Amino acid sequence: MDNKSLIDKLNQYKRLEHNEWTTLIGSFTEEDRAYAASLARSITKEHFGNKIYFRGIIEFSNICKNDCYYCGIRRSNCRLSRYRLSNEDILLCCREGYRLGYRTFVLQSGEDGYYTDERLVPLISAIRAKYPDCAVTLSIGERSRQSYEALFAAGANRYLLRHETANAGHYAKLHPEGMSFEHRINCLWQLKEIGYQTGCGMMVGTPFQTPETLAQDMELICEFQPAMVGIGPFIPHRDTPFGAEKAGSQELTLFLLSLTRIMLPRVLLPSTTALGTVAADGRINGVLAGCNVVMPNLSPLSVRKKYMLYDNKAGTEADAETGLLQLKKQMESIGREVVTGRGDHADYIKKEEAKND
Ligand code: SAH
Repeated sequence: MDNKSLIDKLNQYKRLEHNEWTTLIGSFTEEDRAYAASLARSITKEHFGNKIYFRGIIEFSNICKNDCYYCGIRRSNCRLSRYRLSNEDILLCCREGYRLGYRTFVLQSGEDGYYTDERLVPLISAIRAKYPDCAVTLSIGERSRQSYEALFAAGANRYLLRHETANAGHYAKLHPEGMSFEHRINCLWQLKEIGYQTGCGMMVGTPFQTPETLAQDMELICEFQPAMVGIGPFIPHRDTPFGAEKAGSQELTLFLLSLTRIMLPRVLLPSTTALGTVAADGRINGVLAGCNVVMPNLSPLSVRKKYMLYDNKAGTEADAETGLLQLKKQMESIGREVVTGRGDHADYIKKEEAKND
């Protein structure tokens, strides 16, 4: 089967065989990519019209106990100055975000032991109580099931935990001993079971990645049926073991985003900051490839340069209001409208309606 037929097959059956994924990812042409993007765009339009949801990301701590080889805030990076935001600081970010129209707050951090459930539960409850029409998304790494349950009970709605790679051998080349692929995947299934709208995903172009491991990523996404998928290019950070590696390709990232949209028509798919970092128009290209979410930075300007996951991260200069205005203009230039609203996944909305019947 040629690549165009494989893309059509994916559109029809919403899955592919392993060797089909490998072929498609390993041999696609510019023409295939344009075809997948146009299909993905029309699917996005059918389900979301021209609406783009925006989420404010608050990077509340860059302290991390892990030592992932790719990540700039890894424990061993001693050239980084570390910070933590207080609950008050975080609530101030939410206040500013709410004023600007944000209705989802994404709390992201390194795996910082300071933020126990005892500290996070009151924070999450406070945000939900102050802003009942807003959703809270967590992106704070691997925790116990008990902790995930407590944070969900406190009002957290969604959880982003990229699986990073679906190949255990590849996972072991990106992370030090002691971090386990199985544990991360278990966390994902637990989050889903507890009732979070859950997001998985991977970087594109990490060292040792192959069409084979990417095929496994697409198969995992297919099996997991996430509400959200985060896919962005790997970008080296100079103070990490991968500092001299090449960045991932924009084209491959865009192709995988389109395939994800075709496979999961209603998925919430952000056009990531990393995509906007490898190319000035990267985030626009993401939307043109089928993305329907953008996540501008809501962190205080004073800490933004310290949350450097990779070199030259975009969005660390403009304040929240200016950044958002730029983004709105960018999206308008391609006929999209940035809309205020929680932007939940359709399955979640159905569940809520059933509860209220
Ligand atoms: N501690 C949280 C949040 C991690 S940062 C967690 O473990 O989930 C969010 C995401 O940034 C990661 O999941 C990873 O996919 C991405 N990231 C980290 N380093 C990166 C790099 N060098 N290039 C591109 N993306 C990176």
